[in-house]
Amino acid sequence: MNSRLPVLCSLLIPAALVAAGSPQPAAAPAPQPATYAVQPIDAHPEWDAEYTRLIRDATTGPQFMTDLVDHLPASATAPTPKKFLGYIAGAPDHLTYAEDVHAYMRALETASPRVKVFTIGKTEEGREMIAVAIADEATIASLDAYRQIAAKLSDPRATSEEEAQRLIAQGKPIYYLTGAMHSPETGSPEMLMELAYRLAVADTPTIAAIRSNVITLITPVLEVDGRDRMVDVVRWQEANPSGGVPPLVYWGHYVAHDNNRDTIGLGLAMTRNVLQVSLDWHPQVIHDLHESIPFLYISTGTGPYNAWLDPLVIDEFTRMADLEVQELTRRGLPGVWTHGFYDGWAPSYLFWIGLGHNAIGRFYETFGNHVPSTEERVVRRFGDRAWFRPNPPLPAVKWSLRNNVNYQQSGVLLALADMASRRAHFLEQYWTLGKRSVAKARTEGPAAYVFDAGQKRQGQLRDLMSLLRAHGIEVQVADKPFTLKPGWPPAVPKQAERDEKRNGKDKADKTAQPADDTVTFGAGSFVVRMDQPLSRLADTLLDTQYVRGDERVYDDTGWTLGYTRNLESTRIVNQEVLTVPMHPWNGPAPASVSLKGAAIAIENTADTDLVRLRTALPRVRLLVTEEEIKGARSRPAGTVLVPVDDASRTAVTQALASLSLRVEALDSLPAVKTHELALPRVAVLHTWLSTQDEGWYRLALEDLKLPYSYISTQSVAKDSELRASYDVIIFPPVGRSSSQDIVNGLPPGPPLPWKKTPLTPNLGVDQTDDMRPGLGIAGLANIKRFVEDGGLLITVQETARWAVDYGLARWVRVIETPKLKAAGSILRAAFVDRTSPVAYGYDETLPVYFDGSPVFKVGVFDRPERDSQRPSGRGGKDDPDVPQGRPFIPTPERPTPGPGEEGFQLPEDLRIFYEPYLPRIEDRPRVIVAFPKEADKILLSGMLEGAEEISGKPVVIDAPLGKGHVLLFANNPMWRVNTQGSYALVTNAILNFDHLGLGWPPAKK
Ligand SMILES: [Zn+2]
Repeated sequence: MNSRLPVLCSLLIPAALVAAGSPQPAAAPAPQPATYAVQPIDAHPEWDAEYTRLIRDATTGPQFMTDLVDHLPASATAPTPKKFLGYIAGAPDHLTYAEDVHAYMRALETASPRVKVFTIGKTEEGREMIAVAIADEATIASLDAYRQIAAKLSDPRATSEEEAQRLIAQGKPIYYLTGAMHSPETGSPEMLMELAYRLAVADTPTIAAIRSNVITLITPVLEVDGRDRMVDVVRWQEANPSGGVPPLVYWGHYVAHDNNRDTIGLGLAMTRNVLQVSLDWHPQVIHDLHESIPFLYISTGTGPYNAWLDPLVIDEFTRMADLEVQELTRRGLPGVWTHGFYDGWAPSYLFWIGLGHNAIGRFYETFGNHVPSTEERVVRRFGDRAWFRPNPPLPAVKWSLRNNVNYQQSGVLLALADMASRRAHFLEQYWTLGKRSVAKARTEGPAAYVFDAGQKRQGQLRDLMSLLRAHGIEVQVADKPFTLKPGWPPAVPKQAERDEKRNGKDKADKTAQPADDTVTFGAGSFVVRMDQPLSRLADTLLDTQYVRGDERVYDDTGWTLGYTRNLESTRIVNQEVLTVPMHPWNGPAPASVSLKGAAIAIENTADTDLVRLRTALPRVRLLVTEEEIKGARSRPAGTVLVPVDDASRTAVTQALASLSLRVEALDSLPAVKTHELALPRVAVLHTWLSTQDEGWYRLALEDLKLPYSYISTQSVAKDSELRASYDVIIFPPVGRSSSQDIVNGLPPGPPLPWKKTPLTPNLGVDQTDDMRPGLGIAGLANIKRFVEDGGLLITVQETARWAVDYGLARWVRVIETPKLKAAGSILRAAFVDRTSPVAYGYDETLPVYFDGSPVFKVGVFDRPERDSQRPSGRGGKDDPDVPQGRPFIPTPERPTPGPGEEGFQLPEDLRIFYEPYLPRIEDRPRVIVAFPKEADKILLSGMLEGAEEISGKPVVIDAPLGKGHVLLFANNPMWRVNTQGSYALVTNAILNFDHLGLGWPPAKK
């Protein structure tokens, strides 16, 4: 959605809006005595006495209750949760399906003119997501007008200061609450139903002020598919009190906990739906409710904080957290604190939809039991007193779902009351943050990022620009070529230059563009200007990250989208770039393709579009060249040739029209060695231990329209003829599971079914009668046989380690790296064997996502990394040592390893005894990609300390086994729908699965 809106006629603003601008009674909750006193129920005839009594029964002690939630007002018209569902919010042993939560919200809407429900989209499995707006009647009747006020305040280029001040006086800030993102964190949907009722019905001064000054927006269940599965699991547990509880192996359809890491790539429906709400409503706060920390942690974070945020944002979320900690502590709640959990660095969390859009993004962590039963809990971690936690959680506590509801709701009500009392402040701040974002290009910079039109990977470039637009970021296209000095990186100060020379170092990085060089960009280059309201989001996504090795970080440290998409992007500080003639880019236009000749040649740049072409044309032959096409126009091995005849011409033309591939018509097929680019039978293999990381692989393959079967380690254990069904098995990473866990599965015990039944209708994605058994030795043997029979097994991180541990990839070791610190970083890798089809289309180097392990070493014979130093003696450091009294005999030079010999060189002495241990060259693992040998050339973005422990180490290895191959990845090539630059390492292997032996064994030097 374009953030510039049609001009809003201020005459349309109803009188009720204007009234909102007049002074309001202070909305801050009335001061309470320092110790909270429970009010007797019979003193309050306006309360729903039964509901109030049930709240108190379900709370395990008065110290876990506040005056804000220890009662519920009665209503003659609006149904309470108890009236609608039969139980109160937070009742023991009751959890509500998302559909029933939504039905309750609609019942409130029917009964109250203060409530309105909107559908905001569907989940992957087709379930509905909603947003509920609550405010006074007049506000609800004019919601569109308020949304337009917020929209106008979001863009200072379209709104004058004078008009903004008028709108700030009239508008109402929007506080957006979201619940149940993480499916085992079960309290928030229950709480949000009661909150909606309370906000619609209660007549206390606090609630009345919230209603008239704030638009509260609620999405009670974010991960709707996972919520319903969690309620199923609880029903199963209640029906089987003696059996174990099946672990919630699937939350959403694709990922579990990492649904809260999708706000960079927007791969999940949930993220896209919430983003759309943000673009349509322009909330000033997004507040996400989680339940994994005692008793209430209010987000700020330990740092490092994201370096691209406006400091005003950080000041504000800190102020809000401090206020709520203080107010709740004053009311007597133990264990409410801030600061000491989570860092604040990566922009991948859902609440970043707020932070990235000039709003406040924040979250709560309350104490959840997962299941709705009351439990005796012990608090060790987070239970200590600290400067940021002077009133820590109790070390042992009887804890109920209602306690959780009380904490969440009390905090949220204080936050809403704060917004009500600072109505104008929140709108003013939103306006100011937008202005400062637009000014960024000319104050701190940069002025823009430019993606040159002439670069290689046009499909990935188009998709990245589309992603930025989906975030709401404006993208421009240069009308003609332009030349300027980027002004970045800044020139090295003279003293530093002298210091570097003295230390024998070169200028820091030869690939970086010195500030005083000019660069020319072609017509059609993409320009992402930093004088737009979302410049800070654009800057954080496109800039380079640096994180010190001694930081304790919570998640990935690097994400630079130009790197992860393998694109060239230039950070430009020079403000001249803002005057280049350009126009808005409104998304891709179909390519005009005319295919005249008998064939076409397609430049292979390892672009995702090449896979899309292959999958769009399953019946057309696509040939890939195994050698360079020589001639007037030489083309490297890996070029794709498509014979075109009248039968296929239309289909090929149509497929190319939606893609961004460089195509050239040929009169005839060149006489060159080729093989067919295959569309093999692919399976994605999952365990019953963890499915999250493989979900990103399913998303990647589906995005490329690459069909696959979805199989489990248990089905592999039963299938001794895997090769009859599949050509390629992808075994994506499995979280922190060990190799033994993959084989052995869960411990023995009563069956843990993951199955659709009348009691558990939502358990699915895959199904089993018992989640316990793993791959087993039989499954291992079946996979080995699959590879030996010519199959390709693709393994990544933990599964690559498993392949090493269980002998599927011989002569590869996983080594210890005690000094290495690389937490989700973007590192430079280099192609060391370009003859493998896995390397087709790539340049010399590639940015890869690496999370610190595994680190591989290849070979059978270890030799010292470095020859020992010469002894002290005559001459200089590099002179030979000459013993006296005999003729001098120099030590022979060590032989340099030839291709495929690294780690496999026989010792120079007594070779005959070592030869039996030396594998034939064709059987040796083949290193295709490795980290550069120069340790200081590895880090691109994020954290890297101890780089010398990975310098020169393999990243991608092809281990031959029988007639097939085991491919091992130390990096994760398909991560969070964000590493399209390395997708082709996987898809090249898939599409060439039957020709991976090309170039192996290597030609002798
Ligand atoms: Zn959570």
